[in-house]
Formats: sequence, structure tokens, C-alpha cells
Amino acid sequence: MTTTLATITHFINGQEVDTASGRYADVFNPALGTPCARVALASSSEVDDAVAAAAAAFPAWSNTPPLARARVLFKYLQLCQQHTDEFAAHITREHGKTFADAQGEVARGIEVVEFAVGIPQLLKGEFTDQIARGIDAWAMRQPLGVVAGITPFNFPVMVPMWMFPVAIACGNTFILKPSERDPSPSLLHAKLLKQAGLPDGVFNVVQGDKTAVDALLDNPLVQAISFVGSTPIAEYIYARGSAAGKRVQALGGAKNHMVVMPDADMDMTIDALMGAAYGSAGERCMAISVVVAIGDAGDKLAGALAQRTAALKIDDGMAPDAEMGPVVTSAAKARIEQLIGEGVEQGATILVDGRNLKVAGRENGFFVGGTLFDHVTPQMSIYKEEIFGPVLCIVRLPSVADAVTLINANEYGNGVAIYTRDGGTAREFVRQIQVGMVGVNVPLPVPMAFNSFGGWKRSMFGDHHAYGPEGVRFYTRHKAVMQRWPNTASAGAEFAFPQMK
Ligand code: NAD
Repeated sequence: MTTTLATITHFINGQEVDTASGRYADVFNPALGTPCARVALASSSEVDDAVAAAAAAFPAWSNTPPLARARVLFKYLQLCQQHTDEFAAHITREHGKTFADAQGEVARGIEVVEFAVGIPQLLKGEFTDQIARGIDAWAMRQPLGVVAGITPFNFPVMVPMWMFPVAIACGNTFILKPSERDPSPSLLHAKLLKQAGLPDGVFNVVQGDKTAVDALLDNPLVQAISFVGSTPIAEYIYARGSAAGKRVQALGGAKNHMVVMPDADMDMTIDALMGAAYGSAGERCMAISVVVAIGDAGDKLAGALAQRTAALKIDDGMAPDAEMGPVVTSAAKARIEQLIGEGVEQGATILVDGRNLKVAGRENGFFVGGTLFDHVTPQMSIYKEEIFGPVLCIVRLPSVADAVTLINANEYGNGVAIYTRDGGTAREFVRQIQVGMVGVNVPLPVPMAFNSFGGWKRSMFGDHHAYGPEGVRFYTRHKAVMQRWPNTASAGAEFAFPQMK
């Protein structure tokens, strides 16, 4: 019996549009290891159609008062709250993470909408009375025009929501190019935004791959690109987008360390590590993948971590007691297992080996078991590569100063944590570490929606971080205005540069 797979289409100018390119890709349910839908892959002319629709919608949307724009987002916020489980089911089906984790992802995305509905407050300008005789000055921020977001597979709901609620609230029109691995939530966003009263063309979705991305980078009407994904692609997007004169923020990959001091509360630390390393099967850009154990902390951690890692409940993400689901594709599974093999070959001690895991009833699923290495060194590929899977490496070092040197030398700088009871140690660590987001006894220091998110070094290209006040700055341009009315006497023609008298 053959079943026809549903097609996940584009959403352009308020309508679902199938692709004219004739190109499609299979979307898999990673727990089953079988396709669950197919996604359209846009040609560059279809991307240009979406950009044209967004450009046509921009004048009216940018002239809509901020409060009226915020009210549309307010309705969308309520709809998102009502549809949380539908979003989460899409995530679990196409990404594989557990349903509870998917619900958490939706909640963190919704928080950005809660921030965005307050945008009139953040769009207020600055006014200075009487900067010179009879002259006032003010600064205001205006939207850019058509802006685009290109997003990764690992947060198919939340990462797009880092971008479009803020961009739209600021008066821009938006094109989303979601990951082709888990594209369904993008259409649910589009439908809910339309239901909330968003005018057609303000939010558009183009499904696709590199062809669609390159078309966005090359289209002169696209003013800004927000990207989240792996470092090589982030660097490419930043270089090509900026060369075309666009504003670009490109968030890349990570290798996040947790430093554990011998005085740390070990029970709290182990609980934190289990969630931060193995939650979402390690497919989080803030996942902890390296524990830097100082002094005898390694001995305190290794045995207990091994026991907990071996006992992880790994299943289809819809199973109510699953702690970890599958990884996203068979290629990801093969790559992670290859890296685990390299770790063994290069001399790390493997305490728990997650290769060749079979889950009963889900034998074709893309599962990798929790894996734990001890005595990992910075020369090993399991230390150097972003594995993006459920693999935790223990590196043992004598002092916190050595940990700071190691982490600062790492090419990535997304997140880091330190576990200690000593305030002075934590304070110095926070000051010296070259990483964008730092946790003190907090494993995943992901900033809330009213702050901003971003890494340092090769974890981020560009200067404005995502969402929060940085997002508002990214999606608006500063304009300085000076004004005089003719009721002040003219001083006559001035040929010298004006000075205050
Ligand atoms: P990816 O770089 O493969 O894909 C991201 C996006 O780029 C997708 O939309 C994809 O279609 C597109 N893309 C892929 N190859 C391309 C190419 N050659 N040219 C143009 N576009 C291309 O990333 P992924 O595998 O979907 O996501 C995982 C990565 O994202 C990890 O490295 C992770 O650390 C990173 N990530 C970073 C953050 C952060 O905030 N820094 C957040 C989430 C994920």
C-alpha cells in the first residue's frame, strides 16, 4: 500500500503556495526513521515572489501605529498559547525531542511575543529641547523594510520566534526560511498570524535549501538577514550578506563547557549536567558538552554520571516517561557514532557507550544512547568538534586558571557555566571568561526575552545579539532630527561650521 505524503508548502502573501520548482525533500519522523511529509524547496524566483510580496506590504505595515501592530501580536500571542500542544506535537514528530521539552521550547518562544507586544515602549525616541537657540533635536528608530530569518532544525518554533515577532512589531515585513528538516511549525505560525489579523505579505515563509538562502542573500530588497545555525554556514551568510550591503546577525555553533570546582554541590551539579548534556539529545546550541573537572571533582563526578547516563530513558519523544528522544537524521546518528569511535581510538576512556542502541518498537529510529567519556584532552576530535549529540566529555585540569585558559582558547564562545560555592572564584571567572553567556550554578544561561541572546568568537558573526533590546536595535535604524521653526530670527548665512554662542 502506498500512502501519499502531505506537502509542506510555502506561505506567500497570505496564501499557501506549492512549489513550481518541482523540487521536494522528505521530512522524517526520527523516532520511526521513516518520512512523515515532504517539503517544497523554493527556486530563486519563488523567493523573489515572496520578497516582492513583503516589499509591497511594507509601506502600509510600517505606517500602522506601533500600538495597532502590537495588538495584532497580542491576538497572535493568545492563539500561540491555545496552540502550544499542536506546535509541540509538530516539533516532536519532525525533530524527535520529547513532548515536554517541545512544550518548553514553545513557552520560551511565546515569551518573545510577550516582549514584542510591549514594543511601543521600546520604540520611543529621545528628545532634547533647545540644543541651540530655537532648535530642538530628537532621535527616532525606523524599520528597515523586508528582513529575512534563516533558522536551524534544533528549535523549529523558538528560534524563528527570536526573530519575527520583534521584526514585525518594529514595522518590518518578514520572510522566514525554516530548516527543511522540521518545517511544519512555520506554516502554523503563518496561519495563526493571519488569523490574528496580520495583513497579507507581512509574514511569509519560503521552504527550501541553499538555493532559497542564496536567493535571499542576493535579493537587493532584503535589508537584513538573521541567521541561526552552524558556524561554517553562519560565516558564509555573514560574508555574503554583508558584501551585499545588508545588516546581518549570524549565530553559529558552540562547544559549551561547565567548570566544576571541588567545592561544588555535587548532587546539584550532576542533576544540572544530566539535563544540560542529554536534554534534547544534546542538540541544543547551549548544551553542555564538556565538563572541566578541577582537582578531585573528576573523581566525584565520573562514577555517578556514568550510572545516571547508563540509566537514561530513551524512547519516542511522545512516550510519557522519555527523557531523551532520537537525533534528527540518520546522517546525524552516523556522524555522532563516528566521532564516538574517534574518541575511543584517540585514547579517551569511554564510561558509557551509546552506539548501536535499539529502542523496542522503534528499531529504525535514529537513536543514539547517552555517551560519557573521561580523560578527554583538547587534541581529541571529540573535544574539538561540535558533536551536537548526547555525548559528554570530562576534561580534568588542576586549577580554575587552567580552565579559563582552555575555554578562552576555544574557537567557540556561546555558553559556559561554573559550579562552585565560592563567590570570589565565580566572580573572577565571570570577568575573565571570553564567552557571551555565563551561568554561575546555572547550566544553560539562556537570557530571557527582555534581555538578549548571543555568543562570542565563532559562535556569532555580527554585533547585535538576538531578541530583547538588541533585537529592536537590529531591526530598526537610528535617525537623528534637528528642527527649527521660522519664528526665530535668522543669523544670516553661516559659512563657518556652526558653533554654540
Ligand atoms: P545548518 O547550518 O546546517 O542549517 C541552518 C540553516 O541554514 C537551515 O535553514 C539550512 O537550510 C541552511 N543551510 C544549510 N546549509 C546551507 C548552505 N550550504 N548554504 C546556505 N544555507 C544553508 O544548522 P542545523 O544543522 O540546522 O542546526 C544546528 C546548528 O545550529 C548547530 O551548529 C548549533 O550549534 C547551531 N545553533 C546555534 C544557535 C545559536 O544561538 N548560536 C542556536 C541554535 C542552533
